Amino acid sequence: MSRVYNFSAGPAVLPEEVLREAAEEMMDYRGCGMSVMEMSHRSKMFQNIIDEAEADIRQLLCIPDGYKVLFLQGGASTQFAMVPMNLMKNRVADYIITGQWAKKAWKEASIYGRANAVASSEDRTFSYIPDCSDLPIDADADYVYICENNTIYGTKYHTLPNTKGKLLVADQSSCFLSEPVDVSKYGMIYGGVQKNVGPAGVVIAIIREDLITDDVLEGTPTMLRYKIHSDAGSLYNTPPCYGIYICGKVFKWLKKMGGLEVMKQRNEEKAKILYDYLDQSSMFRGTVQEDSRSLMNIPFITGDENLDAEFVKSAKEAGLENLKGHRTVGGMRASIYNAMPKEGVETLVKFMKEFEKEHER
Ligand SMILES: *Cc1c(COP(=O)(O)O)cnc(C)c1O
Repeated sequence: MSRVYNFSAGPAVLPEEVLREAAEEMMDYRGCGMSVMEMSHRSKMFQNIIDEAEADIRQLLCIPDGYKVLFLQGGASTQFAMVPMNLMKNRVADYIITGQWAKKAWKEASIYGRANAVASSEDRTFSYIPDCSDLPIDADADYVYICENNTIYGTKYHTLPNTKGKLLVADQSSCFLSEPVDVSKYGMIYGGVQKNVGPAGVVIAIIREDLITDDVLEGTPTMLRYKIHSDAGSLYNTPPCYGIYICGKVFKWLKKMGGLEVMKQRNEEKAKILYDYLDQSSMFRGTVQEDSRSLMNIPFITGDENLDAEFVKSAKEAGLENLKGHRTVGGMRASIYNAMPKEGVETLVKFMKEFEKEHER
C-alpha cells in the first residue's frame, strides 16, 4: 500500500487512522456481524453512532444549547435552496459575493425572493474579502449570507460582516472544524463534509432553534424542511448512515488531537510554511490579498501557463496529487485541510524549491 499526499479541494484527504479503523470495522462492526453500511438506521447500534457524533461535534464547536445539529444530505448545494425556503420569511436576503459558491447560493435564492448582492469581490477575480463593516443591509432582509472560506479562490473572512442586527448564515464547507467558531454569532452554519470531515453527500447544519419552524415558503418539499429533520433527530428518512459514521470517527480524531484550538495552531503552522515560501519565491506567487488568505486552500501561479502545467505534472509524478487549480482560475491550488500532515506541506515546498532551481534561467 502506498499513499500519496493528496492536495485535493474535495473530496479530500481524511485521517489515515480513521480510514484504517473503518477498514477494520468493515465486515463486523463491534461484534454485531455486519457493516455499518448494512445496518438499519432504526437500530440501537446506529442510534448510538449518530448520538455520539452529535455529542462530539457539539463539544468540539462548543455549540450552545439553543442550536440544533442536523445531519442532512444533498451536499452543500442543496442548502443553497433550503436556506431561502426555510429562512426567507420576508422574501428578502442580502448576499456577499466572494466566489462561485456564494454566487450560486445567491442565484438560487433569487428564485424565491429578492436576493441583494450587497458586496462583491468579482472585480479582482475574487482574490480578496470585501470590506463588510458598513454594507447597505436591507431593512427587510431575513438574513445576510456569506461563504466564509472560498475554496476555489483561497480567501477567508477574518472579520465577520457587520450584519446590522440581521441573522448571519454561513457556508463553512471548506473551513468546517478547522478552528474554533463562536456559534452564537450565527443564525445558521452549514458545511458539506467532503472538504474537511468525511465522505461527500453529508451536510451538517447548525441552526438556532427559533429559526426552525413550520413557517416556510409555500411549496417547500417535505425533505427540504429543517423542521421535519429536526423533529425526527435527522432520521426522518434513511440518512447517509455510513457517511455520518465516518464523520463521527473524524470528530473523535479531532478530539484526540486536542480539539479545534490545537487544529487552528496546526493549520496556521502548515499554511505559514507554504505562504512564507510563496512570499520569497521568484517563480511562484500566491494569488490572494494578504489580509484575506485562507488556511485551507492556497492558490498559486508561476505566471506562465505552460510552466504551471509542467509543475502539476511533475508534482504528481513525485506523489503530490491534485495540485491543479480550479478550472476557472488556472495555476495551482494546495488544499491543506485538517488531515494533511505538516510533512505533506514540507514535502510540497521542498519540491517547489527544487523545481524553481531546475527552471532557473
Ligand atoms: C464544495 C463546496 C460546495 C458544494 O458542495 P457540494 O457538496 O458539491 O454541493 C459549496 N460551498 C463550498 C464553500 C464548497 O467548498
